[in-house]
Amino acid sequence: SSAAAKTLTIGLIPGDGIGKEVIPAGRQVLEALPSSYGLKFNFIDLKAGFDHFQAAGTALPEETLSALRSECQGALFGAVSSPTTKVEGYSSPIVALRKKLNLYANVRPVKSVDNGIDRPVDLVIVRENTEDLYVKEEKTFENPDGTKVAEAIKRITEVASKKIGKMAFEIALRRQALRDLGLKSIHSSPSVTITHKSNVLSLTDGLFRETIRNFYDNHLDKFESIELKEQIVDSMVYKLFREPENFDVIVGPNLYGDILSDGAAALVGSLGLIPSCNVGENFVIGEPCHGSAPDIEGQNIANPIATIRSTAMMLEFLGYDKAAAKIYEAVDANLIENKIISPDLGGTSKTTEVIEDILKRIN
Ligand code: ATP
Ligand code: MG
Repeated sequence: SSAAAKTLTIGLIPGDGIGKEVIPAGRQVLEALPSSYGLKFNFIDLKAGFDHFQAAGTALPEETLSALRSECQGALFGAVSSPTTKVEGYSSPIVALRKKLNLYANVRPVKSVDNGIDRPVDLVIVRENTEDLYVKEEKTFENPDGTKVAEAIKRITEVASKKIGKMAFEIALRRQALRDLGLKSIHSSPSVTITHKSNVLSLTDGLFRETIRNFYDNHLDKFESIELKEQIVDSMVYKLFREPENFDVIVGPNLYGDILSDGAAALVGSLGLIPSCNVGENFVIGEPCHGSAPDIEGQNIANPIATIRSTAMMLEFLGYDKAAAKIYEAVDANLIENKIISPDLGGTSKTTEVIEDILKRIN
């Protein structure tokens, strides 16, 4: 096209361990996008993580935060090591970033490719990222007889529930548009499934459920093509494993979303395949679901696909669906051919070889 290219500034935060080996893949796939997509990229290398904490005394330097806020439209985050014993002064920089940039949704698509798998999976879990039991308001006390008690607050608000519900319906609508463009093969019909336990927690989970139902009822004009379903969280786990092909978008409060998304990841084989995106009103951070994987660090064998898919998600949330689809398709083609595949999937290829193969399929 003859339209001027749009330039996006993207922060790159490799963090620790294999984060340093996979984040370059994100940069390379963006650079490989053909000019017909009308996008150009500036990259800013930014520091965060445990290694940086040990070197400089802070896990999330002020320069990183201010560059993200003032210069970047989006970012890619690799991984941070989590020390097993508490280290004085250290706290996770990604948790801090989610709070400081108000990234209220954690979106995690789980998708299999058609290479002989018997149960196709192509669903998205939309997890509320700011409240529920994660407000971490816990306390302990003793009964008069000296036995201990511990309590935690489960906080659900109408405001956060409405925002996450809106996000879930918008994702369902976008997936429907991709189906219509023939760019995505999704087996389920368009739906949003609310998962909750309001049969027991009638006030908290009840508010979550009611708020999303009300949002849907008040916006039927926009979302009427999306079916609203609901599933109590325990039977949700059962159905997720028995009939994953029947789910499209699943929305849940923080804790159920956390548990369901790790469970769903197990349906498709390797943690190295699963992307995520932290989404707020005006910022997005793509982030592979895996951690720093110290057991395979420095060997050039980490699977870069989770990061490459997270990069596509970042583009999707910035509004560039077609460029994102190009990247998703390149990854799918690599997986369907099943030849240049990293060891976690049973192959013998190096990280850099998998990246090269995917780049060839993009440009
Ligand atoms: P952290 O404390 O940073 O979370 P971890 O030890 O929990 O590190 P994870 O990164 O969560 O490690 O990984 C769990 C397992 O999955 C490890 O055996 C790791 O090697 C493997 N794994 C994770 N990511 C990948 C990847 N991209 N490619 C291949 N294997 C991976
Ligand atoms: Mg881990």
